Amino acid sequence: MTNRMTEVQCPHCDSKLDANTGVNDTTFDTGDAARPGDWTVCFSCANVLMFNDDMTLRTPSLEDWSDTDPGQTAFIRRLRQAIGTLKERHEQ
Ligand SMILES: [Zn+2]
Repeated sequence: MTNRMTEVQCPHCDSKLDANTGVNDTTFDTGDAARPGDWTVCFSCANVLMFNDDMTLRTPSLEDWSDTDPGQTAFIRRLRQAIGTLKERHEQ
């Protein structure tokens, strides 16, 4: 389920983002809506982002990355690759 949210801007590509879909390493759609502190990947530019307390988006800090377990880091990498593959297919 795609969850609508107040429109925010990607700090990398300036895309306007107004929806999110919960994913994990076994389910493409968990049905969960994004919450403050969640990690996300911009569907337009595939950059890694985090939700602030006010649900705007920011680039994760080095501290955020160091607090992330290796399994989550690997999942984020696979998600970015999947978005890149989808975009390549769409552009052909
Ligand atoms: Zn972006």
